[in-house]
Amino acid sequence: MALMITDECINCDVCEPECPNDAISMGELYYEIDPLRCTECVGHFDTPQCVEICPVACIPVNPAHVESHETLWQKFERLHREREAAQPSSA
Ligand code: SF4
Ligand code: SF4
Repeated sequence: MALMITDECINCDVCEPECPNDAISMGELYYEIDPLRCTECVGHFDTPQCVEICPVACIPVNPAHVESHETLWQKFERLHREREAAQPSSA
């Protein structure tokens, strides 16, 4: 499942730089998670880094984006390929 940020968010800014997938950004009122980019940190870490660091525990799973571990892994691989393609060739 992708995770989501609730309106309990206090906009403390600490989670955004922790996300390995650049899935977190400031929304209209508080921070938001892009479900197309959140892998629950699968592929990078054993635990969701934003949840680990959030001081108010306002990052539950997003019930609208229920995904298996395999689906999260496929999302990680897609993001990884996109990142590789976006990098300038070192040749
Ligand atoms: S769980 Fe990981 S990938 Fe998802 S938003 Fe949090 S830090 Fe980013
Ligand atoms: S760490 Fe938690 S409270 Fe801070 S900006 Fe992120 S979601 Fe909001």
